[in-house]
Amino acid sequence: MYAHIDEIFNSIQGEGPYVGVRQIFVRFFKCQLHCAYCDTPNSRIAGGQCRIERTPGKNDFYDIANPVRGEDLEDLIRSLWSPSTKHISFTGGEPLIHADFIRSLDLEFPLYLETNSGFPEKARELKDKIAIASCDIKLPEHNSTDHYSELLKNELETISIFNETAETFVKIIVLPETTKESISMAVEGIASIDRDIPLILQPVTQKRKVAPILLLGLMDFAAEKLKYVRSIPQTHKMIGIL
Ligand code: SF4
Repeated sequence: MYAHIDEIFNSIQGEGPYVGVRQIFVRFFKCQLHCAYCDTPNSRIAGGQCRIERTPGKNDFYDIANPVRGEDLEDLIRSLWSPSTKHISFTGGEPLIHADFIRSLDLEFPLYLETNSGFPEKARELKDKIAIASCDIKLPEHNSTDHYSELLKNELETISIFNETAETFVKIIVLPETTKESISMAVEGIASIDRDIPLILQPVTQKRKVAPILLLGLMDFAAEKLKYVRSIPQTHKMIGIL
């Protein structure tokens, strides 16, 4: 099978509870959403070239033509693997758009999925292949979609599906304008699935900073329903790594 891939590289996970863990990142093209804070806008539309890292950390890339064949991706991943690398991170864009392709891969490494959680049917297809699922829930103020209720319903269903078989956590991006009211449906939805699912509140990485008093208030609010609430910022940008 073939898929449109934006880039493949070996780096350090900069978000969520696996921050600091070495992973190979496979960033797929295409996304059905349009989040206001998106930091990978180029990956939302399929491009003609896939850039491949030659030496991890050196920023020396070469291009291959899209779409990329599954067997070629397997070889590229094996050539980028290293002793401290722990997972393959499928990210995007939205990797669940490529669920059939991911399912067809024959890889001996644990798979870590970073998804916007918008495709429960595809989550069902892929769930037994995924070791760790990082599932986003979008908020109304993210302006990700014109159909917010439908997206939230799909996100919660996706989380529930991965939670059956994979280590699953939820990530919510906090904007300066986020409120307890705007996260309440997401928090209640996660709690209705499983109070043990960790929730990561990630302050957006922008010039407009999230006020500490807001972040702490949101953590306490969420922790009234959920057992594990943490706030973890993006760290890869702090150290200037991909
Ligand atoms: S889901 Fe991710 S890739 Fe898609 S628009 Fe939102 S931030 Fe960007």
